[in-house]
Amino acid sequence: MNNTADAIIIGGGIIGCATGYYLMKKGLKVYLFEKDYLTAGSTGRCIGGIRQQFSTELSIRVAMESMKKFTMIADELGQDVEFHQGGYLFLAHSKDKEDTYLQLIQLQQKMGLDVEYVGISEIEKLVPGIDTKDLLGGAYCSSDAQANPFLVVDGYAKGIKEKGRVLPYKEITKIDTENSKVKSVRTNDNETYYAPIIVNAAGPFARDVAKLVNVDIPIYPERHEAMITEQMERFFDMMIVDYRPDGCYFNQKWGKGSIIGCYTPIPNVPGLDIRVSFEFAKEMGRRMARLIPKLKNIKIIRQWSGSYEMTPDGNPIVDKTDIDGFWIVGGMCGHGFMLGPEIGWIAAEHMTRGEIPYDMSTFALKRDFSSKEVMK
Ligand SMILES: Cc1cc2nc3c(=O)[nH]c(=O)nc-3n(C[C@H](O)[C@H](O)[C@H](O)COP(=O)(O)OP(=O)(O)OC[C@H]3O[C@@H](n4cnc5c(N)ncnc54)[C@H](O)[C@@H]3O)c2cc1C
Repeated sequence: MNNTADAIIIGGGIIGCATGYYLMKKGLKVYLFEKDYLTAGSTGRCIGGIRQQFSTELSIRVAMESMKKFTMIADELGQDVEFHQGGYLFLAHSKDKEDTYLQLIQLQQKMGLDVEYVGISEIEKLVPGIDTKDLLGGAYCSSDAQANPFLVVDGYAKGIKEKGRVLPYKEITKIDTENSKVKSVRTNDNETYYAPIIVNAAGPFARDVAKLVNVDIPIYPERHEAMITEQMERFFDMMIVDYRPDGCYFNQKWGKGSIIGCYTPIPNVPGLDIRVSFEFAKEMGRRMARLIPKLKNIKIIRQWSGSYEMTPDGNPIVDKTDIDGFWIVGGMCGHGFMLGPEIGWIAAEHMTRGEIPYDMSTFALKRDFSSKEVMK
């Protein structure tokens, strides 16, 4: 067996697979290692939302570029990924939120995003049956979307296999370096694979993987629970986001009619424990029904949980490290699916051309982490 590749990727989620795919497109033989099965990490636990409404220029740009790639992804990968542009609607239940959205919309529109502030009557048309008590309006972007994470990962992984290999159930347990340069990786079954580029795309486990070369990176897992309901007749098209402290976010699956959603727990739940709670299912039902009373009797059929991979400022890390050839592509802060295509492409550009198509300093490893992404 040939144990030498041009690049080794650690992690079989959206980020590892997208990065590997774009490296393959540049002619590289990529070996991708996944300690479990593809999508076993956060990617297979996400709810498939794709939006462009962010608060920093770089995040908006990356999200818009990612959206362009999603609009062409079925042709690119040669398979349908259930991509559908039904929009995202961020509800404002306070003057503070309204002001924040109005201010962000100015920046987003300046960057060419088709986002607008909509009033109550427009919202009532977009979401029939919504309870507008305390509602002031909302930030609505009709080109925001949803897609199926399993199909997207599958498509990218097939691409990697055109020139390289995808190796599930192989955990990287050691990374060997020579003169501060990566040399090889060791797997749990004691095999060694060599490459001059090693990419840490281990999602919520990225900090542990970086420790294998004594690099410390600020990526911390946080538990987020999710649920899906029985199917019901389609009656809204977009992801509805209620950012009140006891709010939630959900959309209706394109073509199927199930509602899929989450809420962000307060306080947050740090760590890799992804057990689920009975409290979540009860509370999620209550929060959805408060917004749309006709959801009161809908049945939740499954719940699960997964990890967000948080950084202190809510922005990703896409950068090389002091170990030559060792790259970090992670810390997606709960936005990895939507940003994945563009992040994978940028990372591959950086690794192969040594330069990046636009200023990525907001996502640098050695940056000031004190600012905050507001739309998270
Ligand atoms: C409930 C929930 C809902 C979400 N909803 C959305 C959404 O609507 N839209 C969106 O954009 N994002 C969403 N996210 C966030 C999104 O899922 C993540 O940001 C994204 O999946 C991160 O991708 P990743 O490839 O970096 O990590 P992962 O998908 O976690 O992939 C990393 C992989 O690395 C593997 N690995 C770790 N260590 C090793 C090792 N030593 N050797 C080999 N393999 C290793 C893991 O097994 C894992 O499969 C959601 C997340 C959750 C939990």
